Amino acid sequence: MTNSLHPVHLVGAGPGDPELLTLKALRVIRAASVILVDDLVGERVLEAALDGVAPPPRVVHVGKRGGCVSTPQDFIEKLMLREALAGERVVRLKGGDPLVFGRAGEEVAALRAAGLDVVVVNGITSGLGAAAALGIGWTDRRVDAQGVLLVTGHTRLDGDGQDWDAIGRVTASGVTLVIYMGITQIRAIVASLLRHLPGDLGVAAVQQATTGGERTVRGTLGGLVDLVASHGIVSPAILIIGRVTEGARVVARCDALSVDDVLPATRAKVAAAT
Ligand code: SAH
Repeated sequence: MTNSLHPVHLVGAGPGDPELLTLKALRVIRAASVILVDDLVGERVLEAALDGVAPPPRVVHVGKRGGCVSTPQDFIEKLMLREALAGERVVRLKGGDPLVFGRAGEEVAALRAAGLDVVVVNGITSGLGAAAALGIGWTDRRVDAQGVLLVTGHTRLDGDGQDWDAIGRVTASGVTLVIYMGITQIRAIVASLLRHLPGDLGVAAVQQATTGGERTVRGTLGGLVDLVASHGIVSPAILIIGRVTEGARVVARCDALSVDDVLPATRAKVAAAT
């Protein structure tokens, strides 16, 4: 460190379950004097992390609340800078992982430009929280999932938008698609994806993964818009698209194995180990 100021910590709060905080996140949160908290950080996470901390740090909520517009990003950056330059131990607490659709890059750049050190503390991203809620692997080899693609369904207003055709083609090649912020644009997203993917491809949606309000639904890509509407799935939610969501079919494939297929292999392993 080139000065006596404390580094600013950009900390992932995980998807909502306080037990999913990392030990490092817990330590820096408890040592903070000022915490700037995003909207998507579960109340319970901060409450649990600060349990017994005296005096408690100043907590500033900088996300959007109750339909108000978000606190502008440059205001958040200025606030972080002001507090850090005043000698405070600043924690910027974000939902999930700060590096996944969390604007961490912009914040790191602004802090470094002002000569401050920055430490990023990872959190469990909500897409993984959603996968855990469903009990599915993003890269399940039983359905030849080749990898995973994380995309946002909510593109910058001043940008050209997502290239859903390219995303559809990649997904068709056997990559699991995980969509963040996809609920408001779901109709347009599904229509674009259906140009490249079959209507009976498995999908799942998870609202408020890992929290008390968690809800999961499964269905097909062709029925996704109705599925989400009929179950009243609202933001924050993750959409997972791909064969890894087709639990029933995976089980069917396993059932196709006879006991004779499995036993000789097991016997051979036991024989080799003894
Ligand atoms: N950095 C965060 C993502 C921020 S973008 C992360 O790593 O998880 C905000 C989007 O994240 C929401 O619109 C929603 O799609 C998703 N999200 C955040 N928390 C969630 C949760 N508990 N359950 C489901 N989706 C969640």
